[in-house]
Amino acid sequence: MTDHNLSNWKAVKLNCRAIAVWQKLCPGLFLSILTSSVFQALSPYVTIWLSARIIEELAGNRNPKILFRLVLIQLASSAILTLANGILNRWKSFKKHCSDRIHDKIYMEKMFQMDYADIDRQYIFDLYSQICQNNNLNGWGFRFIIPLFEEYATAAFQCLGGIGLTVSLFLSPVPKDSGFAFLNHPLCMIVITALLLLTAVLSSACSNRSSRYWSLYAPMTKLGNRYYRFYGRIMEYQKRMEDFRIYSQHENVYSVYMTRNTIFAPGSKLAEYARGPMGLWRAASRGILAVLTGITCIFVCLKYYAGAFGIGYITQYISAMSRLFQGVSDFLKHTGHLYANGGFLKTSFEFLDLKNAMYQGSLTTEKRSDRQYQIEFKDVSFRYPGSSRYALRHVSLKFQIGSRLAVVGMNGSGKTTFIKLLCRLYDPCEGQILLNGIDIRKYRYDDYLNLFSVVFQDFQLFALSLGENTAGKADYDHKCVMKCLEQAGFAERLSALPDGLQTYLYKEMDETGVEISGGEAQKIAIARALYKDAPFIILDEPTAALDPVAEMETYAKFNEIAGDKTTVYISHRLSSCKFCDEIAVFHEGTVIQMGSHEELVSDRNGKYYELWYAQAQYYTS
Ligand code: ADP
Repeated sequence: MTDHNLSNWKAVKLNCRAIAVWQKLCPGLFLSILTSSVFQALSPYVTIWLSARIIEELAGNRNPKILFRLVLIQLASSAILTLANGILNRWKSFKKHCSDRIHDKIYMEKMFQMDYADIDRQYIFDLYSQICQNNNLNGWGFRFIIPLFEEYATAAFQCLGGIGLTVSLFLSPVPKDSGFAFLNHPLCMIVITALLLLTAVLSSACSNRSSRYWSLYAPMTKLGNRYYRFYGRIMEYQKRMEDFRIYSQHENVYSVYMTRNTIFAPGSKLAEYARGPMGLWRAASRGILAVLTGITCIFVCLKYYAGAFGIGYITQYISAMSRLFQGVSDFLKHTGHLYANGGFLKTSFEFLDLKNAMYQGSLTTEKRSDRQYQIEFKDVSFRYPGSSRYALRHVSLKFQIGSRLAVVGMNGSGKTTFIKLLCRLYDPCEGQILLNGIDIRKYRYDDYLNLFSVVFQDFQLFALSLGENTAGKADYDHKCVMKCLEQAGFAERLSALPDGLQTYLYKEMDETGVEISGGEAQKIAIARALYKDAPFIILDEPTAALDPVAEMETYAKFNEIAGDKTTVYISHRLSSCKFCDEIAVFHEGTVIQMGSHEELVSDRNGKYYELWYAQAQYYTS
């Protein structure tokens, strides 16, 4: 999935594209890095140059006035540069901190925008999971762009500064009668420069060969990283702790975590690489760099010995040249990283470039004050992506606004799928769903979604305040939230909460947060559905945690609060559906019966009759 056979040009293009994404999402990030890199790379050269001047003066005229002035300039410049470095670093750290949060947003936004059906696909799961693993491994992908840019910029300025301070080394001729006049010959200059460049290039080529093993290793880390993400963080999921205790899972989990997550273990492939080629190439790179410094020293000393310049310049040239070569070596090394990152970015963009296949209509759903909407399923069939089995087959039904529709049937009969299609989380494979006679695909997607409030079977509340959970946003109408919570039967519990609507649910985000029971969570989820004030309210077995009597009471009460809203109840407990205007009985993906409770229960050969009497032992009335 991660392509490491990209052309260099393609890798550069992908990295530039990632920079453009960052620039758009986090303006000022690269500017802060660039300015900070200029100061960081050039400051040492100021010190090198001034130190050389001081040594020159000490070895030459020893003029106290000039020495005093030089020392003063040295101190002042170092103070100013340190201060500027500090300020710029602070700015850069702040921007980098912002980028940390933005990084997750890049993928989060895509997740929210992509077709819901795609989220279900194994291919998408694998793609996203690979992106997370690349990021976990070494920050490869989008996150890697930031240090890469920083190191590139620093290396580039380091090269520029180094060139600035060493140009005079080549331009200062040795005296003709020194016996070393050949050092002035242009050919000698060319040979020396070529030798220096060659060793710098060789050193970074060796370093790149070493780094390549990281990208070769990345695909092998997939499983280990999955173990790390799941088992390494298992303690963060309080809900799993009960099973943990009861089944004494800690030993088991610990041993799975330790033995199967072996990506950095001594016997792993990475360790093998590090002992072998990876380590050897790195050592070769360092060795060549040492040779380079040696050549530089010999050349500088020879020129000094022949009288081309004073002793102060020796420190200047040697220090500046070793920084210059380090800069060249870093620059080339990061070019290797840029190439490697291109492969990882290809995976990221493959995910971000996924097209939405779902047709986005343009009609607006009229905001009818009379809430007169009519829904019709016309011979709808549906298979989940990647599945060969039909979850719904030839479903046709119609329901009027303001009516109460109950959807019943055994587990796996297609009830939830019916709701998912109604809310357009998926489109039918065959047939049509009509809203007021028009195919729902023709309506604007966001507009259409606004028609529904759904309390799903496995609804999720968040570690946010009660008010934010109910309203689904931070800026909410307090009175309205209170009213909805009251209607959902949460008033008594609310009055006992320490901070009212501001009380946090759960303790993840606030240690004073409250833990709530399944029944209380269900009431909050219902209040959230009421707050949205959509014309359709759908309850998909949200009361599964309740006993049959409490469930029936909840439905009866809900029937009252739903008022003129069209309500769809899904339940496998038929007692709670008695009060509905119409009941649709699902069986193996098809609607096999439809009618009122009285009509259905009187059909002794029907499925409803069978289900009703099978459950009769639970009924109180
Ligand atoms: P119910 O709500 O009546 O229990 P569902 O609508 O959840 O039934 O499921 C209907 C059928 O679709 C079942 O056979 C189930 O296994 C299958 N199914 C549900 N969700 C998926 C999915 N995401 N991918 C593949 N098959 C699914």
